[in-house]
Amino acid sequence: MQTAQLLVGLDVGGTKTAVLLADANGNALAEATIPTYTATPEALLGTISRAVRTVLAEVRATPRQIRSIGLGVPGLVDPATGIVQLAVNLNLQRYPLGPAVAARFKTPAFLENDVRTAAVGAFAYVQQTEPVQSLAYVSIGTGVAAGVILNGRLHRGHNGMAGEIGHMIVEPGGARCNCGQYGCLETIVAGPAIVRQLIAAAPELQNTVRHAGDVYEAAGQGHAAAQAVVQRVSQHLSRAMQWLVMMYDVEKIVIGGGVTRSGEAFMNPIRHELAQMCQESPLAAALLGEAKLHLMPPEYNPGLWGAVRLAVGGNR
Ligand SMILES: [Zn+2]
Repeated sequence: MQTAQLLVGLDVGGTKTAVLLADANGNALAEATIPTYTATPEALLGTISRAVRTVLAEVRATPRQIRSIGLGVPGLVDPATGIVQLAVNLNLQRYPLGPAVAARFKTPAFLENDVRTAAVGAFAYVQQTEPVQSLAYVSIGTGVAAGVILNGRLHRGHNGMAGEIGHMIVEPGGARCNCGQYGCLETIVAGPAIVRQLIAAAPELQNTVRHAGDVYEAAGQGHAAAQAVVQRVSQHLSRAMQWLVMMYDVEKIVIGGGVTRSGEAFMNPIRHELAQMCQESPLAAALLGEAKLHLMPPEYNPGLWGAVRLAVGGNR
């Protein structure tokens, strides 16, 4: 295999960078996750290089065999120029990351916001079984955001941030968000917010509850305060999904991200809330029926597969 036909997809996060190497037919060849270094842009480039070289080494390939690289980056990016306008978690501001990666590997490199990238990956996943043309991918983890696919293409919006539902104000005067606003959706349904709310209600759990998964587990065991938090989170999430459907009239809502690892314990209360909406309203029933909601299986990483799609121009 001497021709350049390998595709590389990267999900560059503030603490971890994941990489997937695929062949021209989209088959996975190797995957790796390494820590991200963000002290300087050069340190970040070093992380990306190391990640790429790690998967290349696994299949004994060289950088010359790479056809193109796709990168999902947490922040405000300009896909046309490859410039990262602002990525706080990566310590980057107005930095030409795309051109820098392209120069290092002497191959084309394409950039997109990480959640928009994951939406492209989620779309590819759903299309394997259903020929849909639109969906919203909702990522619920340390932060909360969505990416929207309309007419088979990524809907970016003016700033490439269409779908930033985590910063919709759902509780005016509520908790202060990292973005500076008060009462953003993220201050209620993101992983750290779920933990914070339970500890505020039940301080005795301070040393045992560390992740959102612990809160869902406590709720499952009948802990009343945990059940109240889960209910509040589920109500807000089901409402956010209703908003997405009303705004974009998408065929599917796909949910993924760290918080969703609780699986059915996470999904059931949301399904319950949505079923109630559908029961009360024929309009909701028509737009929000059972088949609307998909939970992304944990073994499929939409951020990485979306980045591989970016590498072959899958977002354009
Ligand atoms: Zn916010």
